[in-house]
Amino acid sequence: MSLTFYYQCSECGKEYDITHDMMLCPECSQFQKPDEPLRGILEVILDGHFHHQPKISDLLPVEAEYFPQIPVGNTPLWKPANLGRDLGFSNFYIKDDTHNLTGSLKDRASYLVAAFANRENIREIVLASTGNAGSSMAGVGAAAGLDIIIFLPETAPKAKMVQSIQYGVKVITVAGSYDDAFDLSLEYSRKHNILSRNTAYNPLTIEGKKTVSLEIYHQLEKVPDYVFVPTGDGVILGGVYKGFRDLMQLGIIDRIPTIIAVQAEGSDAIASAFESGNFSPIDAHTVADSISVGIPRNGYYALKQLKQYKGKCVTVSDDAILAAQKELSSKAGLFAEPAAAASHAGFLKMKDEIDKYATVVLLVTGNGLKDIDSAMTKIDFPLKSITSLEELG
Ligand SMILES: *Cc1c(COP(=O)(O)O)cnc(C)c1O
Repeated sequence: MSLTFYYQCSECGKEYDITHDMMLCPECSQFQKPDEPLRGILEVILDGHFHHQPKISDLLPVEAEYFPQIPVGNTPLWKPANLGRDLGFSNFYIKDDTHNLTGSLKDRASYLVAAFANRENIREIVLASTGNAGSSMAGVGAAAGLDIIIFLPETAPKAKMVQSIQYGVKVITVAGSYDDAFDLSLEYSRKHNILSRNTAYNPLTIEGKKTVSLEIYHQLEKVPDYVFVPTGDGVILGGVYKGFRDLMQLGIIDRIPTIIAVQAEGSDAIASAFESGNFSPIDAHTVADSISVGIPRNGYYALKQLKQYKGKCVTVSDDAILAAQKELSSKAGLFAEPAAAASHAGFLKMKDEIDKYATVVLLVTGNGLKDIDSAMTKIDFPLKSITSLEELG
């Protein structure tokens, strides 16, 4: 038995075919105001059911044969025993998405978009990025033989920019914020009629990221109690929910875990809308560049999921993020970039409310080597170099 797939607007419920030029609901997006999250986010709907345990590829709207043969997904889920013991939690897991091809969870979205482009004979893709989506689409695109154009804020961490250029793509830096890069890339996409992989805007970005939940379920062989998700635009968050919701719809699981959206205090648009009920644009500032977002593009959709499935939001300071980054490195051997370590900072802030035997999964979304400048603010380099051991005293 296989499924059929179509888009449905997450606001008005209208249904559409999955085509390259269908991005937002044409009706709801008419009401888009400039400084708010995207209106008319489309969701991939799975239609049908299985008489056997489906494979992950069965649940994706592009057939397996179109995916490039590259290592994306199937990342390790592991128990950091040393760290877990220190924290006093016996079922504490890391879902380590630093293991993807380009070192971040973004590869899951790029992978599905690349497969879709392949199926539709599309050769060019454009996107805006704070750094990781760009380097991800660049690397996945290189492996898939696609031409990629990236709009980055000029302040993006050097390593992410180097990574993108190294993959051989066209990088355009924007004298402005990620939000400015987002708008310019959309204008470029329309002007040159090129497929956009902008996060949330292209519905396949949400759908691609759902594979992380499908894997967590298969690896644990059960639904975890908590999943901590670092959150900027809210697309990973939406994808994490989507994966568990698909499994529930297919009758494979019977509950959705408690999902915790972790945001930086200086970039807390979703967390504050969770409290107040509406979005107001913020001037985002945080050391965790990958979750530094003034207007969370997937804000409405993310908020709806959080409310419906009783998720929670927690905000963490930059100092707490860097301390959590250090702890993950020194106690679990996992060097995560600040945004990725934010999930651990969120856990540390909430752990007194969580049962010691609960199954907790930290989503670690990006590799620490992608942004060494932030980590460098908190470490001591050796003071001087030696020529003989006597100098060690
Ligand atoms: C993109 C990203 C996030 C946040 O994802 P959103 O979909 O923007 O919420 C978190 N961590 C890393 C490493 C990322 O690259």
